[in-house]
Amino acid sequence: MEREGFNFSFNPSACDSCDAQCCSGESGEILFSKTELSAISDYLQISTNEFLQNYCRKEGYRYSIKELKIGGQYLCIFLEKNRCQIYPVRPTQCRTFPFWDRFSGSTDLKELKRECIGVEELTKL
Ligand code: SF4
Ligand code: SF4
Repeated sequence: MEREGFNFSFNPSACDSCDAQCCSGESGEILFSKTELSAISDYLQISTNEFLQNYCRKEGYRYSIKELKIGGQYLCIFLEKNRCQIYPVRPTQCRTFPFWDRFSGSTDLKELKRECIGVEELTKL
């Protein structure tokens, strides 16, 4: 899978043998839109308020999905046995990794490949 403006491709089949590195590791923000808030709450069959209270933390004026600190790592609260428990309605941020704006252009692929084993160098013709 390739995207214009990125100097790498992504092999989705790598996710099968990955221990969900993009959902764990260093602490980070897992953000979602209002539409995604409704979709995730519906999926969990709870109200949006319950979702915000029980599964999110406030980050300034917005909310991020909570992480749990386990063995020195931060894991998304929805990660269970390396699987996302809200996969069908996961936020766009999760769906679009590793094609994030901050990795566009001439990204250091060594670094990014450490974060995601599905990242591959583009073959130059
Ligand atoms: S880190 Fe990359 S390979 Fe691993 S689950 Fe996430 S997207 Fe897939
Ligand atoms: S919502 Fe799902 S895909 Fe996104 S970080 Fe959490 S476990 Fe990973």
